[in-house]
Amino acid sequence: MELSKNQKPHVVCVPFPAQGHVNPFMQFSKLLRCKGFHITFVNNEFNHRRLIKSLGHDFVKGQPDFQFKTIPDALPPSDIDSTQDVPSLCIANQKHSYAPLKELVNNLNSSPGVPPVSTIIYDGIMSFAGKVAKDLGIPEFVFWTASACGLMGYLQYHQLVQRAIFPYKDENFETDGTFDTSLDWIIGMKDIRLKDLPSFIRDTKKVDSMFDFWDGEAQNCLRTPLIINTFQEFESDAFEVLRAKNPNIYNIGSLHLLGRHFPDKENGFKSSGSSLWKNDSKCIQWLDQWKPSSVIYVNYGSIARMSEKHLKEFAWGLANSNLPFLWIKRPDLVMGNSTELPQEFYDEVKDRGYITSWCPQEQVLNHPSVGVFLTHSGWNSTLEGICGGVPMIGWPFFAEQQTNCRYLSKTWGVGMDIKEDVKREEVTTLVKEMLIGEKGKQFRKNSLEWKNKSIEATNIGGSSYNDFFKLIKALQ
Ligand code: UDP
Repeated sequence: MELSKNQKPHVVCVPFPAQGHVNPFMQFSKLLRCKGFHITFVNNEFNHRRLIKSLGHDFVKGQPDFQFKTIPDALPPSDIDSTQDVPSLCIANQKHSYAPLKELVNNLNSSPGVPPVSTIIYDGIMSFAGKVAKDLGIPEFVFWTASACGLMGYLQYHQLVQRAIFPYKDENFETDGTFDTSLDWIIGMKDIRLKDLPSFIRDTKKVDSMFDFWDGEAQNCLRTPLIINTFQEFESDAFEVLRAKNPNIYNIGSLHLLGRHFPDKENGFKSSGSSLWKNDSKCIQWLDQWKPSSVIYVNYGSIARMSEKHLKEFAWGLANSNLPFLWIKRPDLVMGNSTELPQEFYDEVKDRGYITSWCPQEQVLNHPSVGVFLTHSGWNSTLEGICGGVPMIGWPFFAEQQTNCRYLSKTWGVGMDIKEDVKREEVTTLVKEMLIGEKGKQFRKNSLEWKNKSIEATNIGGSSYNDFFKLIKALQ
């Protein structure tokens, strides 16, 4: 599409409708806008309503050059304040979202006063949007919002089939030792066992299988210019392999650090925040009272769920440590049940535990009091922890969180993992080790080194800074 002289290039951004995808897409879109792009940010209707609820109508009204648009939900209506079921969303988007997105882009292209769409940037697991771009003759870029090592993990799915590892011969694959097999044939990934690959290797269904879905989406990332929210120095082995398969890769992470070069001065359009839940900012004042690196911060992101039994193990593990903690316990954290705990627990921790349902995580991880992050190892959380210089304890839930968690202990040396079937004694031992033990000191030192590298990558002339500007050129 030809742009006239005074028209801005118009990028349509299509994130996967979940918090961990909307956040980096929002950060990225705002940077593009600062560099003179016209942005259309596409939410599904469900998330759009949630954004209005958490950030208000004014925010979602947007600006003349930053518009929010919606496509219908691919899943049945729901008004719960919770992430929609991810596997169902993946399949439903793939089946039902092509036509509405195409119609939206066609409408944008015939709207007076709106520059013609020059590029569609879509999420690494929304390849239907790539088909829309292709069919309309519009350039496409894919934005993989997770780690490069996670993408490497999904790219092995093909190999698992070729090497007759998957589908499994024995139905006891989770307990018969199959999962401990070392995958030493993978180039660009070290110390990886089968169970460290993204979790859909546990999915053995053949119809609408997540294994096939993620395999296909990962392969799609190799045939299109690819943007990744990570930095070269952090994932250099993965980049070497990925660049050999797709030379058009832009590493622009961490986006929230890159954002410091581009203050958003526009009234009414806050430079941070795309939270789908209401933030409890009071926890920041609560953190102020504690000594440096003395508080345990616990957060499992926006999707992870656990059993009531595991919730209790975490609760008593924290209580028995006698250390201060900030615990984010989403109302939908426990599968099918309430997250309430016995009064006895609240009495026990009342002077040193702050429990709430959502917080401004970036701010928390940059607070000097926070000494360890007990996390589900989601990619944004991992990167925010790294950029905050905070050592981590990983308890991965699903997708590439298993891979991130393995890297956290084996490759980056910034923490340890905790057993899937978590026990209170282990929680207590690990948090104490991290905050007051010798291992914790080493992890903190390594974390601070990575923090400095993450800042360097986004400094003027740094690897992510340079790639961002290369990307801007490619998009103009
Ligand atoms: N987040 C937040 N407050 C919370 C919990 C999470 O702001 O209380 C943000 C967090 O900073 C991150 C995102 O939500 O940017 C979660 O993404 P991640 O990839 O870590 O995990 P997911 O939610 O996708 O499992």
